[in-house]
Amino acid sequence: MRGWEKVSDRQSEVVRFLVNSYHKNRLVHAYILEGAKGVGKLFVAKNFAKMLLCESEDKICGTCRSCQMIENEGHVNVYVIRPEGNSIKKEQIQTLQSEFSKMAAENSAKVYIIEDADKMSVSAANSLLKFLEEPMKNTYALLLTENKQMLLPTIRSRAVILSFKSLPHEELIKQYCEAGVNQYAAIVASLTQNLDEGIKLAESERLASLIDFVLKTEDCFVKTKLDPSILFMQHQDLFKEKDSQLLYLKLFMIYYEDVLRMKLGKTEQLAFRLYPSSLSTSEQANTTTSCLNKLRALLEAEKRLMANANVMLCFDQLFLEMRGGF
Ligand SMILES: [Zn+2]
Repeated sequence: MRGWEKVSDRQSEVVRFLVNSYHKNRLVHAYILEGAKGVGKLFVAKNFAKMLLCESEDKICGTCRSCQMIENEGHVNVYVIRPEGNSIKKEQIQTLQSEFSKMAAENSAKVYIIEDADKMSVSAANSLLKFLEEPMKNTYALLLTENKQMLLPTIRSRAVILSFKSLPHEELIKQYCEAGVNQYAAIVASLTQNLDEGIKLAESERLASLIDFVLKTEDCFVKTKLDPSILFMQHQDLFKEKDSQLLYLKLFMIYYEDVLRMKLGKTEQLAFRLYPSSLSTSEQANTTTSCLNKLRALLEAEKRLMANANVMLCFDQLFLEMRGGF
């Protein structure tokens, strides 16, 4: 199908469903697009808007003014909302509502896309709910999320859920290797399904440094007994950006998921497969329960960072919890 090529193999069911619904005039007012990072949710959401607004008879052309403006997020009928800072705020939903109600008389389709819809604050979600309860004519909501369970049940019940398929892990690793990502292919595959994004990440110095820092921190816990907070202060440059802070936590979670896999004997699926001796030291130093507790501490730290907690305090608390072994 023209315009859908990039995802039509892996997400064929979603694509077919949307295109058929469009041709049969059976589109509904709200869809939830659920799937792992990098599976093509935003691409499909923009294509949905292009399908409705493309100026060419031969949809989706990708080159007309409408298609281009949708692609660049400049089309007045297509509104994209994503977290500002770490959450989607009520004001963002209200701005959307007032923009769209100004255009209510206009006949052409209006689409709003909410990326990371699970990051809506409670008041934002409630504003959206009102919007969904009384949908305007020819207006469509596309809510993108990695986990639909994080959305309010009242929102879920008003939308059609489209589940995106992930590539099997080993297949994804193979694709990364074919794309030239060798050393960190298994780790990058645990971070994103989006090859372009993963390749960019693998090429950045940041990834290598953060992986190294995860291993160094873990050494503090299991070998050297040094205080990781001191190490952290010495490497503050690495953590200037919130992205890097979050990526570090994510990598540490992947590391501890590996330690758990070792405990279960599932060694063929390890992301940190290049570091067998670190993993086996960690496996010996931890019980299953302490692994789970560390994963929980990492998740809590992620939540605190998202809520804009003081970075140093946040990591101090994390290290204290991880070192305590509970
Ligand atoms: Zn077009």
